[in-house]
Amino acid sequence: MENKMAHQEERLGPGEVVQRILQIVSQQETTKFCPQCAKHVRAVRPGTSRLRQLGLTLITLGIWSIVWIIDAIRRPGWRCSNCDTRVG
Ligand SMILES: [Zn+2]
Repeated sequence: MENKMAHQEERLGPGEVVQRILQIVSQQETTKFCPQCAKHVRAVRPGTSRLRQLGLTLITLGIWSIVWIIDAIRRPGWRCSNCDTRVG
């Protein structure tokens, strides 16, 4: 991907700020055991809005549920926030 923002790394556009906030808000957190760290750690994964998925499913008369399922399968699972190893 081409980086067009090379000269303004410190300045985020309003769209990017909103995107970043949404990412933080939708990110889910839990506690999982990490074999790499050999202890219980904070695990994170990118979240998804169930409400939005449900809305899209209704709008598309159920067609979106196929995308939803594929997305759920492909979605990366929990990752250790320390070492990024896949956990749980
Ligand atoms: Zn770890």
